Amino acid sequence: MKFRQFGALLSGTLLAASLVACGGQSADTTNQASTGGDADKTYVIATDTAFAPFEYAESDGTYVGVDIELLEAIAKDQQFDYDLNPVGFDAALQNVQSGQADGVIAGMSITPERAKVFDFSEPYYDSTVCCAVAKDSGVSSLDDLKGQNVAVKNGTMSADWANSIKDEYELNITTFDDSPTMYENVTTGNSVACFEDTPVMSYAISQYATTDGKEGKDFSIIAEADASSEFATPYGFAVNKDSNAELLKKFNDGLANIKADGTYDKIVNKYIQSVN
Ligand code: GLN
Repeated sequence: MKFRQFGALLSGTLLAASLVACGGQSADTTNQASTGGDADKTYVIATDTAFAPFEYAESDGTYVGVDIELLEAIAKDQQFDYDLNPVGFDAALQNVQSGQADGVIAGMSITPERAKVFDFSEPYYDSTVCCAVAKDSGVSSLDDLKGQNVAVKNGTMSADWANSIKDEYELNITTFDDSPTMYENVTTGNSVACFEDTPVMSYAISQYATTDGKEGKDFSIIAEADASSEFATPYGFAVNKDSNAELLKKFNDGLANIKADGTYDKIVNKYIQSVN
């Protein structure tokens, strides 16, 4: 299987520029139907830049994580090639919509709103959203946030949750492009809280505890969206609506196979142990 990562070491800006420069490189799906698929096709799969434990770069720039390994195992099972393109969450969705990428795997929550423009795979991981603060902040509930600055990440479910309770808790919201910058705004005290997916925040907190503070965040989760709310929704792989049924079928077939043979559990357990 051919597996290349491009752009892992480029800055977001450079990467965006290079994508514009080679626009149209991907996803010409128009002539595939009659042949039943193009065996030589290399799919472009967009992902987030930093969303551990689902996708994140190791120090040498190699991308690892649950999403990365699931995709790798599914591609191997279904024998397709792909280029991984870590551009950030909001950019990943836009890349698919503009045809610069064929699919996105980025801890992407399946929502009715998104289902109007994307086709989703079967759900592959349950998630919800939370609000977290620096551990020593003295803030312990959403009520404590009244009139304060909070940080969210552009285009995310957790940002939607924050916006939905904005008036009730008088939140002063600032939006960031990626999770690390958003966390940093809390660490520096510019924001008292951030909104994030619970498995991702829990992982960052567990990393802080297990690596003597060298990695992760010394945060605590003070609130979670109600489990029965629209914000508690699983992750799915997505392609553009009505335009890439072939890739979606491969993802779903591969996902079923790696669930059946234990590979799925092995991957999830490797990254997410006692966390959850
Ligand atoms: N699960 C969230 C969403 O889909 C956040 C995903 C992410 O930040 N990579 O909006």
